[in-house]
Amino acid sequence: MKNSSQYPKFIADEMLGTIARKLRILGFNTLYIKHIGDEKILEKGKSEDRIILTKDKMFFQKILRKNCQVIFFDSKSSEVDNLLKIFTLCKLDRISYDFFNSRCALCNTKIKRLSQIQSYLDIPEKVKKSNSIFYYCENCKKLYWEGSHIKNIQKLVLEINNMLNNKN
Ligand SMILES: [Zn+2]
Repeated sequence: MKNSSQYPKFIADEMLGTIARKLRILGFNTLYIKHIGDEKILEKGKSEDRIILTKDKMFFQKILRKNCQVIFFDSKSSEVDNLLKIFTLCKLDRISYDFFNSRCALCNTKIKRLSQIQSYLDIPEKVKKSNSIFYYCENCKKLYWEGSHIKNIQKLVLEINNMLNNKN
């Protein structure tokens, strides 16, 4: 299994915000910038060695002509199909979910564990009672904890790993 520093890096087109957020949570360095425009995506893809993710057929063909790395998604395929396509093409035989490798879903910064809960942080009492470990993003200040959405991510990882296994 590859560790996260060996993971490929991505840049997603404007239609792929949801998948960009998932990739970040799974630890993949993924740029997603609103209103960035195709030229800038191409430029960043090339200069930062990022695989471009797109749902736009015309743009896909243009990226191929420019010799950049690209993965194209059919508009009919599901999110799981799209993720599976990424990991298969990137030759990842397994993915994992781990807070330590996770990136902020909103801004792509690596999240950090909070050593103690600061009083100024706006954490609901109920959450504080049922969670002991918190992570946060130094850049946008978003807080993360092991709630139900983490369970959903773990379920997704399991599902994808089963499918990756069946392909081998
Ligand atoms: Zn953030």
